[in-house]
Amino acid sequence: MTRQIYINGQLVPREKAVISVFDHGLLYGDGVFEGLRSYGGQVFRLQAHVDRLWESAQAICLEMPLTQQEMCEAIRSTLRGNSIEDGYIRAIVTRGVGTLGLDPNKCSQPQVIIIADTIELYPRELYEQGLEIVTTSVTRSPPTALNPRIKSLNYLNNILAKIEGLRSGCIEALMLNHKGELAECTGDNIFLVQRGKLLTPPLDAGILDGITRQAVIELARGCKIEVLEMALTQHDVYIAQECFLTGTAAEVVPVVKVDSRVIGTGKPGPVTVDLKDRFHRLARKRNSG
Ligand code: PMP
Repeated sequence: MTRQIYINGQLVPREKAVISVFDHGLLYGDGVFEGLRSYGGQVFRLQAHVDRLWESAQAICLEMPLTQQEMCEAIRSTLRGNSIEDGYIRAIVTRGVGTLGLDPNKCSQPQVIIIADTIELYPRELYEQGLEIVTTSVTRSPPTALNPRIKSLNYLNNILAKIEGLRSGCIEALMLNHKGELAECTGDNIFLVQRGKLLTPPLDAGILDGITRQAVIELARGCKIEVLEMALTQHDVYIAQECFLTGTAAEVVPVVKVDSRVIGTGKPGPVTVDLKDRFHRLARKRNSG
């Protein structure tokens, strides 16, 4: 079935889903986006994603051309229009058509695009065996340059890290911040387990405020695991008993090797496996937030 893409209020077949080459989303990466997932036809934490989209837009002074309620309805109708129950949704808002100069004030209306599709980010066996990652030399953008809390269309910082990771044979790569502390991976947040506690970098390490990260923190606290959002270094990774990544597309994925060092036993640990299962159940539960 040909995918139907939402563009500015209309569902059109993918061949007809086009935007101008003068859109500043293309010319400068000037725009914002969200990646969401649906389980059994229900979007996981839709309001949290829409809130984050609005915050990203506000941070780049982009005025949304629709209301939050209209955006929620547009996302749901794009899913329905493609008969997708379990899928991945990409919601994009570009600055719109402008001149060849940077000035966003010279741009027309922001363009709203929603794509719904199915997804499998990492091969299934990696969820059982765990994946290997590598620390990259590419520093995560400092918050004073391009704040990682803004989910903008400019992902080159992450892509450069991803390229380096792929060249060392790893499908995900760890990025440090400008202070040399752990930040996040190219498309996922990172967690460690040390002495029964769950550790993760704080938002002011310069990371995306991940929605899966937040869900996992809530799940862990709900089963009395202490969660510390604190500055962490590579040393903390190397001495951790367990490590895992979280993201909308990735969900919860165990990490068993970092920089060629085996983490813990080299197999997904009990805390990781338990939180992975709890997250699966939460996501598939109706009205999970
Ligand atoms: N960090 C980055 C850089 C991301 O792009 C993402 C989303 N793919 C995440 C973390 C995870 O965030 P979420 O759980 O909201 O998808």
